Amino acid sequence: MANSVRVRFAPSPTGPLHIGGVRTALYNYLYARKHNGKFVLRVEDTDKKRSVDRAEEYIQSCLAWLGIKPDESPAHPGSFGPYRQSERRNVYQKYIVELVESGLAYYAFDSSESLEQHRNNHEKKGKTFIYNWHNRMKLNNSLFLGEEKTKEKLDSGCPYVVRFLMWDEKESSIYRCHDSVRGKVAVDCKLLDDKILYKSDGMPTYHFANVVDDHLMDISHVIRGEEWLPSLALHLKLYDAFGWKPPEFAHLPLILKPNGKGKLSKRDGDRLGFPVFPIQWKGEIMGYKEEGYLPVAVLNFLALLGWNDGSENEIFSLEELISLFDLKRVHLAGARFDPEKNKWFNQQHIQRLPLSDFCGLCKAVIENHGFVVNDKNKLKSIALMIQPRVVLTTKLWQELNVFFERPKKYDEKALKKVWKAKTSSILQAVAKALSRDGDTTLEKLKDMLKGVAEGAGLEHSALMGPLRVAIVGSLSGPDLFTLINTLGAEEIIGRIDSALKAME
Ligand code: GLU
Repeated sequence: MANSVRVRFAPSPTGPLHIGGVRTALYNYLYARKHNGKFVLRVEDTDKKRSVDRAEEYIQSCLAWLGIKPDESPAHPGSFGPYRQSERRNVYQKYIVELVESGLAYYAFDSSESLEQHRNNHEKKGKTFIYNWHNRMKLNNSLFLGEEKTKEKLDSGCPYVVRFLMWDEKESSIYRCHDSVRGKVAVDCKLLDDKILYKSDGMPTYHFANVVDDHLMDISHVIRGEEWLPSLALHLKLYDAFGWKPPEFAHLPLILKPNGKGKLSKRDGDRLGFPVFPIQWKGEIMGYKEEGYLPVAVLNFLALLGWNDGSENEIFSLEELISLFDLKRVHLAGARFDPEKNKWFNQQHIQRLPLSDFCGLCKAVIENHGFVVNDKNKLKSIALMIQPRVVLTTKLWQELNVFFERPKKYDEKALKKVWKAKTSSILQAVAKALSRDGDTTLEKLKDMLKGVAEGAGLEHSALMGPLRVAIVGSLSGPDLFTLINTLGAEEIIGRIDSALKAME
């Protein structure tokens, strides 16, 4: 059987791609890959006033960084192009004429001033002005004017819009449709307006271009944000009007603010200090990439904002997400965005990186700070030690620097806690023991420290705190024995000396 799944991500280039849009792209990508289908990127740039410079480029870079590559896009066109709506003007023109001729759409010449006046008059009476069945025969449109007068207006170049005849008294006003996430949806068409589909400048509006393109691009499933659910009846009626088979629709739940109150907005990230964009936007707003997140961690986190696989599992690779993803398991309720959980996902994925990849990351950071590690085994043991501790790759140096730089200062609180009267002499004894026998293997080290502690009449654990402060500068950091072994006796003696001098 020929494969029939074709999905699309259809952003409007009105600014940077927000995390909600990324989730939509991801669910489309997962669905396409799972069903061996095609994932299409279509740029919906019919509203030139709202289009923002370089936004399309940004969207493409984000998808590339995340590794969710479209099969067809403006950059890699397939046979359904062009993939930018602004380049498809002539396509829409043909279809709008067809719709008007069939009597399902009509020309409207109302000026914005007259519409504004209608709105105000209604408002004064506590009503809302809706351009639809109950007043369209009284307004300045082709239904009211008749064929001849309409032709005159069109011929004289009078500006117009084309409106869709959403509903009239001839049919039942309840329109029943189906959404893959929500099931049955019933809409009262009486309450909807006659949406503008097309303007005399030759540009379609979102609704018209979207439906025409989904049809012409052979889209089988429309997976998009819940904010488009109110447009579902209109879109389906447009398919009906043309006699086209509609795609299946799935509307994804909202992504909510961290406190669960309301939709997550672009500004929440800035305000609360977490990224909501994949990559940096115009050098101003930082993205996940610059903040030290791995693409797979961002995808994993987003996949679970509105979906789960039915188990308790949370950590998935992209391949696993592809094989498990199912529209039937998309949630109805909004998903709360938890920035701390987001970091946790990143830490989990850093831990799962193959050691060679993680070594590569470390090596780059080490070299960036002007150091070199030629010894591959040393690099490996450093990487192994810190891999479980790293949450963000941007914080790698905080974990790595201890292997390359002596402490510049010693944490006051730590000193207060562990530095006692006897500490200096004990550390001197450790340094002496190390210089006598430079063996820092685990067994030797343990025996040696035990011996020094016993000599001073102390528990061996009482020695660990001050030794750590002397080597690291604080009480945190990786396992002390492994650290000493990696740094070697000479370096440890040097660090003890420096610490003792600093405490004099
Ligand atoms: N251009 C719309 C947007 O920016 C697409 C909505 C849809 O997927 O139908 O969200």
